[in-house]
Amino acid sequence: MSAGEVVSEQEFKRALGYANSAFDLLKRSGIPPYPQFYELLYTYATGVNPTLNNRINAIFRAGGSPSMDLAETLYNEFLKSDVDDRISNVSQRMHARIDAVHDAIDSAMTTANAYSGSLQAASGDLARDISSVAMKTLADRLLAETRRMQDTNRALELQLEASREDISSLQRDLDDVRRESMLDSLTKIANRKSFDEGLAVAIAEAGVSGDPLCLMFVDIDHFKTFNDTYGHQTGDQVLRLVAMTLRSNIKGRDLAARYGGEEFVAILPSTDIEGAVIVAENVRKAIQAKELLKRSTNEKLGRITASFGVAMFHPSDTAITLIERTDRCLYAAKHAGRNRVISEIELANIRAA
Ligand code: GH3
Ligand code: MG
Ligand code: MG
Repeated sequence: MSAGEVVSEQEFKRALGYANSAFDLLKRSGIPPYPQFYELLYTYATGVNPTLNNRINAIFRAGGSPSMDLAETLYNEFLKSDVDDRISNVSQRMHARIDAVHDAIDSAMTTANAYSGSLQAASGDLARDISSVAMKTLADRLLAETRRMQDTNRALELQLEASREDISSLQRDLDDVRRESMLDSLTKIANRKSFDEGLAVAIAEAGVSGDPLCLMFVDIDHFKTFNDTYGHQTGDQVLRLVAMTLRSNIKGRDLAARYGGEEFVAILPSTDIEGAVIVAENVRKAIQAKELLKRSTNEKLGRITASFGVAMFHPSDTAITLIERTDRCLYAAKHAGRNRVISEIELANIRAA
């Protein structure tokens, strides 16, 4: 059920064509075939990213060829996943901030210690009988020390204020990175990790409230054939389309996620099985209704369909048993001819018949 299966002769040849053309371009431009540059020019060869292709084509049109520097820039702009970079950037800034606060506190403490030393020396002097001239010198010295202490305190305050602002901005960056780490990078809907967390929460809540909870699995029909016919890149566009269709047909606390490959899932809290079947039917019809067009060429790609399994949460369920039951419904929908919704009620009826 995953992408690792044997590809058709046609798809193999197509991919090989892209690979050869990527190598030719690298050679022609004198760019070393490091993985990232290969990926860049492979992507160029497929034409899936028109903006990227326009940029590179402009260079060819001007009679040049992309330099390694430009390849690096384009790779960073179009292909690199920057989540790791951003985490390490936030962490470096966090360390620098913490170091600065430590330094400021150290310096304030040194000044405070010196001040307390001066006060002690002064109180020693005062304990003895001292002349009025000596008294004046002492007072001047203490005044100067006190001013220095005030300055240090003010600097520390400013330093802490700056840190507070910086740390709030770091907090926001970290929140952004965290949010992104919960999304599937291809379809931009929730990923498997968010789904696992969301389902655990939904099950715990349904266990407490007694409200109904349903789970829905979606698996695109004959998607391997689609990929083999039109290519993986076009297949990816279809995955985006299905994700959007799923997302636009759910609401409120429902969660749509990519479960893996060409399988999607929706958690439907406060929804009984009849309601969940209606949602599934809506998504099924919406997917079937879309006429697919290849953007770059306007080539008509026909339509795709998907099969659905819908099950409801029982008090004895764990996430695993609920997923398994939903998956059995999905399997039954495939078995019954695809492009249909099968709920666990229907599955029980099929089995009883
Ligand atoms: P069925 O109707 O029984 O579900 O048939 P199927 O071909 O959809 O199912 P199968 O599990 O045999 O193949 C799933 C295919 O989904 C394999 C692979 O070509 C495609 N696929 C999985 N992940 C991705 C992806 O990230 N991008 C693209 N383009 N295709 C993917
Ligand atoms: Mg599948
Ligand atoms: Mg499938």
